[in-house]
Amino acid sequence: MPNAPKTGCLTLVATPIGNLGDIPLRAIEILKEADCIACEDTRVTGKLLSKLGLKTKPELLSYRNENEQSLAEPLAARIADGQAIVLVADAGTPAISDPGFRLVRACRKNGLKVTAVPGPCAAVTALALSGLPSDGFLFVGFLPPKRAARVRFFDAQQDFEYTIILYESCHRISKCLDDLVETLGADRAISVSRELTKLHETIHSGPAGKVREQVAQASQKGEFVISIAKKNYSL
Ligand code: SAM
Repeated sequence: MPNAPKTGCLTLVATPIGNLGDIPLRAIEILKEADCIACEDTRVTGKLLSKLGLKTKPELLSYRNENEQSLAEPLAARIADGQAIVLVADAGTPAISDPGFRLVRACRKNGLKVTAVPGPCAAVTALALSGLPSDGFLFVGFLPPKRAARVRFFDAQQDFEYTIILYESCHRISKCLDDLVETLGADRAISVSRELTKLHETIHSGPAGKVREQVAQASQKGEFVISIAKKNYSL
């Protein structure tokens, strides 16, 4: 189980999306040995470190959408000085709909070592559990919050050849499914994953019209991933 270099390196560490037991084994050692952990919310990562039993905690630096750009070069400079910097998100894989790529880009630009401890990612987990074709897919993160932009996006995907995966918040899941059914039709095969790896994990797969009803009748609390199959695919 070779570890990442301890010095002069950025390591992207994936963390659980709901179940603490999903922390990669190698992550624990890397987190313990870091000079600094760049994380979204220092309280969330602080709690994770406590749950993992890490008593002496490395420096936690808040690295969010708002300061991602301005902190990328200073963090790269610390790595160039020989420090071991770890990047984590609040949950899942850093840099996937979360801050990270600007820091990776700064490291690449400066010829610095970048590596990863791979692990949980909501998009990949939802796709794998969906029953939709997974040989090729487009991940689009969050759709725009405005209805018109969402409808335009769906409309442009009428004939897309691969499965599409998107993230949606509990506040917009119903509206998003309404727009999807209206644009792509009630027969389009989709899958909606809620609360993956958590106690109330629920996955509804089938024609969009039916899945929309199932989601409307169930609890809409929590986190959601929507996967959309190509046209004329049926489950
Ligand atoms: N970087 C994360 C990853 O690798 O999955 C994604 C971060 S993004 C800011 C958060 C979104 O991911 C949520 O709004 C939801 O759409 C999705 N998500 C995260 N955890 C989830 C879970 N346990 N079940 C379903 N969706 C989840």
